[in-house]
Amino acid sequence: MHTRSPSVPAAALAGLRNLFHPLPGELEAAFDTQLDAGIARLLLVLGPAFGLFVVLFGAWDAWIDTARAASTVRIRVALVLLGAPAWAAGRLRWGPGPRCAWLYATHAGAMVVCAAMLPEGLVLALPGLTGALFLLALVEPRPRRFMLATLPPSLLLALLAILNLAPGPGLHVLLLYSLSWPLALCVALATLQLRRRAFLAEQAVLDAVRHDSLSGALSRRYVTELALHDLALARRHGRSLALAMLDIDHFKRVNDTWGHAAGDRALCAMVRACKENLRASDYIGRLGGEEFVCVMPETGAGEAMACAERMRAAVAALRLPVGTDTLRFTVSAGVAVLSPEQSGWEELLRAADAALYQAKESGRNRTVLARTAAPPARAG
Ligand code: GH3
Ligand code: MG
Ligand code: MG
Repeated sequence: MHTRSPSVPAAALAGLRNLFHPLPGELEAAFDTQLDAGIARLLLVLGPAFGLFVVLFGAWDAWIDTARAASTVRIRVALVLLGAPAWAAGRLRWGPGPRCAWLYATHAGAMVVCAAMLPEGLVLALPGLTGALFLLALVEPRPRRFMLATLPPSLLLALLAILNLAPGPGLHVLLLYSLSWPLALCVALATLQLRRRAFLAEQAVLDAVRHDSLSGALSRRYVTELALHDLALARRHGRSLALAMLDIDHFKRVNDTWGHAAGDRALCAMVRACKENLRASDYIGRLGGEEFVCVMPETGAGEAMACAERMRAAVAALRLPVGTDTLRFTVSAGVAVLSPEQSGWEELLRAADAALYQAKESGRNRTVLARTAAPPARAG
């Protein structure tokens, strides 16, 4: 269905409002973390490049005033070296934000101080100084951080322009710089908005890949990814981990009797019931069809069996109204725990599958622990 697109002024207003809107809930925090990680990577490359640029501009100092170039180049090198720890700063406890601000303050500060030492230097260096502003707007687009980072060199520039330049050129410098600064802030805001959109699109794709759209369980790919990580941790620290494989009993019959739509609702209701009986650190994923796996980190055989039993009982207690009738269904579960013999994901899945097969064979609607000397199956 086509909807009318908003008028141009309304769209412009909405766009303007969006510029200042953070993302909802925890997304903004995740976006911030991603942005910080990007800045940390950028500083590794852009930091030395910016430093080199600031020092190489000493050649321009020599062209303008050979006599003072020796001093200005020394100042350039000194300030760039002062800011250099912020390029990588792996050992410093600074976040990428303060590192970026420190780098900008020292490097742009070097440009301002050296330009101010040369005759009419601030006028001539203005394109370089505003260029640095726009570069920062692309690297650190968060307005508060952009403003904080640009504040010290901007104040220095204003002060030196007032002190060193005649009123005419001084006013030119102040005027042009103070026009460039809000423009750079606009670039920062637009960059921020574009990156927020890219982040949202990436999250939507990730969400689609990580979740099963029908049942709300995790996708097979994502549950495997998480489980492999938790398994590696459990093995490394000698901790327990369990998984329960669940399969709806006679699901084909459910579909044949009640229709596929009712079958779909049963799948959703089952996942909901399981989630309600899992801890926050546990998770459930769909392996395919009506087969699911619950991964329970830090869980031994006894607790895992109790949890699988709770899920089994919760599913058996479900009542789904279909027309004037009520659909009831059950699941069987096979539980396997991490052990020296079963230490890989595939081995654990195979063991849980064998236990599930046993549960089906012995009458369904029951939970079986995968072990050679397994305790007797608990009847539902
Ligand atoms: P058992 O108790 O031995 O597990 O028998 P079953 O009928 O559950 O097992 P079977 O593997 O024979 O049938 C699985 C059925 O699950 C067949 C298929 O149509 C149905 N199914 C698979 N995916 C979906 C789905 O997304 N929605 C619905 N409604 N049905 C599905
Ligand atoms: Mg089945
Ligand atoms: Mg099945």
